[in-house]
Amino acid sequence: METAVSEKQSQANYDNDIIDWFENVSENAVHVQTQTLRRILELNYGVEYLEKWLVGNNIQEIDARALESLFISTVPVASHADFEPYIQRIADGDTGPLLTQQPITTLSLSSGTTEGRQKYVPFTRHSAQTTLQIFRLAAAYRARVFPIREGGRILEFIYSSKQFKTKGGLTAGTATTHYYASEEFKIKQEMTKSFTCSPEEVISSGDYKQSTYCHLLLGLFYSSEVEFITSAFAYSIVQAFRAFEEHWKEICNDITEGTLSSRIDLPKIRKAVLEIISPNPCLASKVQGCCEELQNLNWSGLIPKLWPNAKYVYSIMTGSMQPYFKKLRHYAGDLPLVSADYGSTESWIGVNVDPSLPAENVTFAVIPTFSYFEFLPLYRQKPGCISAIDDLLEGEPVPLSQVKVGQEYEVIVTTFTGLYRYRLGDVVEVAGFHRGTPKLSFICRRKLILTVNIDKNTEKDLQSVVERGSQLLTEAGAELLDFTSHAYVANQPGHYVIYWEIKGEVEERILGECCREMDASFVDHGYVVSRKTNSIGPLELCIVERGTFKRILDYFIGNGAAMSQFKTPRCTSNQVLLRILDACTIKRFHSTAYGC
Ligand code: AMP
Repeated sequence: METAVSEKQSQANYDNDIIDWFENVSENAVHVQTQTLRRILELNYGVEYLEKWLVGNNIQEIDARALESLFISTVPVASHADFEPYIQRIADGDTGPLLTQQPITTLSLSSGTTEGRQKYVPFTRHSAQTTLQIFRLAAAYRARVFPIREGGRILEFIYSSKQFKTKGGLTAGTATTHYYASEEFKIKQEMTKSFTCSPEEVISSGDYKQSTYCHLLLGLFYSSEVEFITSAFAYSIVQAFRAFEEHWKEICNDITEGTLSSRIDLPKIRKAVLEIISPNPCLASKVQGCCEELQNLNWSGLIPKLWPNAKYVYSIMTGSMQPYFKKLRHYAGDLPLVSADYGSTESWIGVNVDPSLPAENVTFAVIPTFSYFEFLPLYRQKPGCISAIDDLLEGEPVPLSQVKVGQEYEVIVTTFTGLYRYRLGDVVEVAGFHRGTPKLSFICRRKLILTVNIDKNTEKDLQSVVERGSQLLTEAGAELLDFTSHAYVANQPGHYVIYWEIKGEVEERILGECCREMDASFVDHGYVVSRKTNSIGPLELCIVERGTFKRILDYFIGNGAAMSQFKTPRCTSNQVLLRILDACTIKRFHSTAYGC
């Protein structure tokens, strides 16, 4: 008892310490940023990438502020393409100081599902350390609002993908995979004293379907101990509970008998799970009773019903995860949904310091020790219009000290892993300040996704349009499971094709209306004008058969993407994907002439 009290005390002390640390660095964010840049440059002075700009300067003799000015005025803003030749040489085995003085031994693959192709990004010990640090920091802020029981468990839908060797012998894989394999992940498990329900063999099985089944089975096996439910991106939780709707009887059977379904055929995972579970008919019949009730409610409130002690659901729910928010809310009932932090394979950026806010209003306080951040101001040509993001006028990048509330920016990072003034491609808005550090709202990926001629629509534009169209679907009692799009330009005039996978029966007349509604909902000036003059043809809505988006997921996973970082591509010109989508199309609709 005494030990439990003192452990509780030490965890609380630890939470206070890490929050104090962050409050302090955010209070002094401007100074901390200058020092962070200095440290990055001191560590990597003389690397080949920087040589041509910083050569001849003895940076030890320059004070940090002057160094910051020198860096900004000489080193150009760059994109991934500028770093690619260096990263390729590293991947091929060049151990010279190309981007960093310390040789890079690990490369991360960004998920690639938003950009269309995976990119290599350096991963170092610093990457794993910052992951652990932001995890602890975010957990400390959450604990203030939603205290959890120490020694409890976390139902984590996490998946590592395979690590492999590059031509030069470097370990490559997704950033989450490297993190799950790191010392830091083990420390996190120990430090927080809250354990993932699944053993390492389940997380790293390499087969996301088998891992999902086991996460669910073990999550239920430990259901009374589960304190919260989480995944990196909301998509993984939604796909897991969709799988549960299909497999719950089998899972109940496994709990009754203490067995493992034959669908789990990987020996390592079987052995690890069977060592944990034992027959529990009483729990199984309780779960079965709940599921029978839930079935009649279309699985609404599934999470609090099956995990009665869970305090919240925690995951990234913004940006490209927004389309899954409604479904997550459906499963979570009244349980709080807490938005997880903002980061990328390149660098962590901001932490959610207000976990009690509704997930859709989340902002991320920039962590000024993680990287050196700059912000490229973006000005819309038409105020208030979310479209035509590629028509945005750009200002000059400003440091963290000069950002303005209400202004939109593209994030630029200089990292400890050898990326200098690297455009991240994300658009954020400064929503306010946490002490001296900006709080960012995530707006969208900057990349243009749909364009036929002068029209330009982003992921966010498409999301709004699909939301409008799918309202009619919801009113008719059906559900949009997932969607993507394609700009068809093989024949003139080109047109947009939107692919929908839906659940439930809907009259064709209603689907035709959904198609018209979407066509009329694009607010991008280029699209509207082009549709009126018929230089963009009627929008095409393709309904694909059930399971199509799972096939797309399988295609990405088969090519090295990780379930933990997966984001459905919202626009594609990938020929393999288009072949899958076209082969799976079961109904097609075309909107009528524009404005009719
Ligand atoms: P990746 O490096 O491929 O795993 O993906 C990183 C990208 O995911 C970021 O650049 C953002 O576009 C997106 N992302 C990460 N965290 C969030 C968040 N909290 N909200 C919205 N989008 C996010």
